[in-house]
Amino acid sequence: MSFTTRFAPSPTGPLHLGHAYSALLAHDMARANHGTFLLRIEDIDPQRSKPQWHAQLIDDLAWLGIRWDAAPMRQSDRMPAYRAALDQLWALGLLYPCTCTRRDIDLALGAPQEGAPHHGPDGPVYPGICRTRPRSGPRPTDQHLRLDMAAALSGISSTTFLETGPDHAGTITRTAQDYAARIGDIVLARRDFGTSYHLSVVVDDAAQSITHVTRGADLFEATAIHVLLQRLLGLPHPVYHHHRLIRDSQGKRLAKRDDARALAKFRAEGATPQTIRRMVGLDPVPPSA
Ligand code: GLU
Repeated sequence: MSFTTRFAPSPTGPLHLGHAYSALLAHDMARANHGTFLLRIEDIDPQRSKPQWHAQLIDDLAWLGIRWDAAPMRQSDRMPAYRAALDQLWALGLLYPCTCTRRDIDLALGAPQEGAPHHGPDGPVYPGICRTRPRSGPRPTDQHLRLDMAAALSGISSTTFLETGPDHAGTITRTAQDYAARIGDIVLARRDFGTSYHLSVVVDDAAQSITHVTRGADLFEATAIHVLLQRLLGLPHPVYHHHRLIRDSQGKRLAKRDDARALAKFRAEGATPQTIRRMVGLDPVPPSA
């Protein structure tokens, strides 16, 4: 079986040890499988993505010894592909426009008859306020577009994906009930930049012919969304490997704003790529590998 994996950072802050682990693990897996390693820059958010972070991450990855086998894909170049996927879902009647603010949603969820809101990978499950809004005519581009989860699941009783990561290895099944209760009508196109992480990642994993998605365990629940979108859009399902997260000394997950663990800082203090491999628990590789 061919093996193509990727590292897909967002240039919204410095890469830290967690990113280094993710990138090195994916790179090691590609090399061990005589496969292909690709880089994708996830810069759909023009407010948060910065050229300085893009340049720094390329430099950090090269310093770590990571080599990508094709020119990096940039999501900001890929808007036509995302629009085509949204058009496909709109034509199927699976999207609806939504004008709700965070406050509208919180208020609706706070109403006493609603009970405790369920939280999914994107926060509280949307209470459906805009679900009856018209879906005919041209696809609106100035409002959020949500996936009508019930309509998307008509005729689908469950989805499955193959997981090889340490926490859940095996075939993972998500039922229609899981989707309704834990995920709900997620936003697939944001009004401010016309796409979303979920839609773009699915379209681009297919465009880059990714056979194995390697990424952090924090995205495990989001994979159910991606597998469903692959099915709706007629795209192949990769195998998933959700790896452990690198935590700080208090056990907290590292975040981009956590400059203390930035790779650049370790580099400035004289760390070598082998030091970083050791710090994240990866075996050393000979310099020629
Ligand atoms: N861009 C995402 C991040 O930096 C990763 C997306 C993925 O691996 O699917 O967290």
